[in-house]
Amino acid sequence: MDIGFIGLGNMGLPIVCRLMAAGHRVVVFDTRAAVVDDAVARGAESAESAADVAHRVATVMASLPTPLASGDVADAVAGGSAIRRFVDFSTVGSPTAQRNSALLAQSGIAALDSPVSGGVHGAEAGTLAVMVSGPRADFDECTPAFDAIGRTTYIGAKPGAAQTMKLVNNLIAASSLAVTAEAVAMGVKAGLDAQTMIDVLNAGSGGTHASRDKFPRAVLPRTFDYGFATGLMVKDVRLYLDEARALGIPTQMADAVAQLWERTLAAEGPDSDFTSVVKPIEAAAGVVIEARES
Ligand code: NAD
Repeated sequence: MDIGFIGLGNMGLPIVCRLMAAGHRVVVFDTRAAVVDDAVARGAESAESAADVAHRVATVMASLPTPLASGDVADAVAGGSAIRRFVDFSTVGSPTAQRNSALLAQSGIAALDSPVSGGVHGAEAGTLAVMVSGPRADFDECTPAFDAIGRTTYIGAKPGAAQTMKLVNNLIAASSLAVTAEAVAMGVKAGLDAQTMIDVLNAGSGGTHASRDKFPRAVLPRTFDYGFATGLMVKDVRLYLDEARALGIPTQMADAVAQLWERTLAAEGPDSDFTSVVKPIEAAAGVVIEARES
């Protein structure tokens, strides 16, 4: 396929690499010139702007940090002469996906909201979970591209449905990382070894993606480099709360989890890695969660 791709960050660049490795031609744009140069060095073609991408290819994809950026890019591609569909991998919440879908429909452009889960490592390995909502025919047309990046589930035709699915996923991921951090800190304070605790959790019923992947990769070695920013995790928790409150459903667990994430944002900053969520807990507990010396 000929594909345009806007947003070459932690997720976008490895996704573009997977698309090119599968034989697709990719025309890229990002507001940061350095990442465009990086993509071009790996075989992509560069465009001058998001609008330029939309003048050159029918299928334009994006991986952007915020609902605002996603809306700006949708506005920019809407006037493109070649674009026929916009595939947004960003996590932006269903109101933004619905707004973009309605806006693009005015120009005859189909919108697929296609958030992903699996992190930078999943993007590099082509093992992302991709959830898609929008017109079925456009979803089918994009199958060769989706197949290059992971396992795709068609959620339904309703714009924004895949965003809702993604927010459910991320609230659970945010919660399990937070509760694992708090509980492991308790064990360390009581004198248990952090590595031993993670090993036992992973053999038992307390194991989650947090203990199987995030702790061993980025917390126990104290590298805090998993590849997802605290600011983006907080964005997702806020989007979940907005959507849950609009539906009038209980948010007791989400409210408690959100408090810890907001505290992490204030203490560690938006650009810190989201595995830094352990740090405010460690500071309050007077412990450090780290692997024993080998
Ligand atoms: P990132 O901040 O690393 O990358 C975003 C990129 O978009 C940057 O290169 C930035 O320069 C570019 N950009 C911003 N505004 C732009 C604009 N108007 N035009 C063109 N380029 C623009 O973010 P990321 O970690 O790659 O995440 C991207 C999206 O994927 C987010 O919505 C995030 O929530 C979601 N996501 C991230 C992960 C992860 O592990 N990092 C996992 C799943 C989903």
